[in-house]
Amino acid sequence: MTELQRIALAQKSLKGISIGDAFGESFFGETDQMLNHIRERTIPATSWEFTDDTVMAIAVFEQLKINKTIDQNQLIEHFVINHNKDVNRGYGATARRILREVGEGGSWKEIAQGVFEGMGSMGNGASMRVSPIGAYYFDDLERVKELAIKSAEVTHTNIEGITGAIAVAVATAIATKLKLENQSISPIEFIQQVADELPDTDTQSKIRKSLAVPYSYHIETVKTILGNGSKIMVQDTVPFSIWCAAHNLSNFEEAIWKAVSILGDRDTIAAIVGGITIMSTAENKIPLNWVDSVENPMTSPFIKK
Ligand SMILES: [Mg+2]
Repeated sequence: MTELQRIALAQKSLKGISIGDAFGESFFGETDQMLNHIRERTIPATSWEFTDDTVMAIAVFEQLKINKTIDQNQLIEHFVINHNKDVNRGYGATARRILREVGEGGSWKEIAQGVFEGMGSMGNGASMRVSPIGAYYFDDLERVKELAIKSAEVTHTNIEGITGAIAVAVATAIATKLKLENQSISPIEFIQQVADELPDTDTQSKIRKSLAVPYSYHIETVKTILGNGSKIMVQDTVPFSIWCAAHNLSNFEEAIWKAVSILGDRDTIAAIVGGITIMSTAENKIPLNWVDSVENPMTSPFIKK
């Protein structure tokens, strides 16, 4: 595989993130109205603008493109620059604080470790931006894990925050490999393969717990068991996202609808699910109008010139 082909895979994953992100963001609104939209499969009026999830994923993508690896100082610098370009992209309070303090000259190592009384962040922010790494190095899981950790550490030093990033990156790598090798696996196998690559954490045990959750369960029941990101934490975001992707590996469209149906942190959940499942879905099953409608990451102001 050539470097250009790898970049194309990472770019495809970024596209999946951007579609999921913008799609999910458009489902914030009055709950009953949103449930109606989901039931009728109609998309609320939307500008199809992506949010912080994609803005940060662009910086991860560019690291791969420029360096074939993650240079942590460059990555955080790009995060800071992009945050300053548009602060109104839905960043969380902790992310804003880290990016502001680093932008003022602080050390990212100290600042990222210092949040939450020195525990570091277990937020889902490192998970939502990581998929391009899995797509790029799909055939080398050790490299995927190493770079996922590096990409997380600049903002998320808590082991749960890091585990979420590893999980999403590994899931994306597996999805990418399946499609390229024309293989398919069961949802159970997919979830198991992801969980096997993770450190012993709450996130890992919750991902394992999802093995026992049938796809036919009512979404409210699924929410009770796996969470829906309402705490903006890895533990209540990533297990559902992996489960949702696992059950829809060949159907990006269905995956995204299922992702938003749990509401909660819907832009991030759909971004994660989109970044994974776009890699394993046949090209002709990805809705063209979604691809055409979403703000294009590659021509956005967040790409380095
Ligand atoms: Mg967002």
